[in-house]
Amino acid sequence: MNTIEKFDSNIMGTYGRYPLVMEKGSHEIAADERGREYIDFGSGIGTNSLGYCNEKWVNAVCGQAKTLQHTSNYYYTKVQADFAEELNKITGYSAVFFGNSGAEANECAIKLARKYSFDKYGRGRHNIVTLENSFHGRTLSTLSATGQEVFHNYFFPFVEGFRYAKANDTEDLKAKLDDTVCAVMIEYIQGEGGVVPLNKDFVDSVFELCGEKDILVIADEVQTGVGRTGKFLAGDHFGHKANITTLAKGIAGGLPMGACLCDEQCRDVLGKGTHGSTFGGNPVCCAGGLAVLNFIKSGDHLKQVTEKGNYLRDKLLGISEIDKVDGMGLMLGASLKTKKAQGVVAEALEKGLLMLTAKEKLRFLPPLTITYEEIDKGIAILEGILK
Ligand SMILES: *Cc1c(COP(=O)(O)O)cnc(C)c1O
Repeated sequence: MNTIEKFDSNIMGTYGRYPLVMEKGSHEIAADERGREYIDFGSGIGTNSLGYCNEKWVNAVCGQAKTLQHTSNYYYTKVQADFAEELNKITGYSAVFFGNSGAEANECAIKLARKYSFDKYGRGRHNIVTLENSFHGRTLSTLSATGQEVFHNYFFPFVEGFRYAKANDTEDLKAKLDDTVCAVMIEYIQGEGGVVPLNKDFVDSVFELCGEKDILVIADEVQTGVGRTGKFLAGDHFGHKANITTLAKGIAGGLPMGACLCDEQCRDVLGKGTHGSTFGGNPVCCAGGLAVLNFIKSGDHLKQVTEKGNYLRDKLLGISEIDKVDGMGLMLGASLKTKKAQGVVAEALEKGLLMLTAKEKLRFLPPLTITYEEIDKGIAILEGILK
């Protein structure tokens, strides 16, 4: 049996996979079992933020694995304290809870928002407004939070207490913010929904309307956070700071880690025994996360993300098959005039380029460390396909 046959006969078929067995990687280049190399414009799904096996990251992770790979959250560890301190410093938040994924970070945010409201106002103010076309995860409550009907299937009953407002429609949002609502949850740029940024005016009114009624704003920055858009948080582009921000994907350079950050008024809401995770804040993952934060702090890497993003965007707009490009920094989505994104990605794979789609768009989430030469090489491959 080859790897793919063995894999498929032993693992649930929950993913549509490409026929590629990934074996190793170095910097921004991945290699498969047959030794074929690929320029990586996807970095997992925006996860390998420093590329493959970045030296400082490897040293931090391996060093921690050799010292202490896990301890229960009944005890303290220095590496979790160091990582949390850096994260709070860089974002300006007061406190963090660590889980292991984006969905878990959002679960924490949902629980926090409901308890904040319960503690202050009692029962009945439990509804959370999310946006149509959003994506917040695959657990039952984050599926319920996801504002796309295709996700609301099979697994009934879903979790109650979510309602959906139209993105960029202030009137619709206003109509949904009655006195049963404790939070509004947004992605500044809807990632899985097709790389769709929110309008500045709409984001302004989310914060204004919520501020008036003591409704918390939750920013799901699982995809947009940790430097992806050229600022540490995408909220920085909009000049707003949510009460709660969730991070995952690129936060630990490819290790499972989710973070739910909150401001001063929320920091004591989840007290002893109200939330937890066996693996949450795992020392090896925290060491990986700390290496990512140290990278971002050293030098002008965020500025470079913006510059490389602009460079990539200009190159994409130079391809006649590409209609328009949305997104910020190194989170871009390109609409095609005639071709299907899925087919383009399959063809790119055969020519040595890894790419993603988001709805009907080509999606670009390269490692933050990608070089101009690699962008050029990848674009040359893409240009050949789109000709
Ligand atoms: C990927 C993603 C999630 C889910 O993250 P997992 O780590 O897969 O649980 C949630 N929200 C957004 C915006 C995402 O992009």
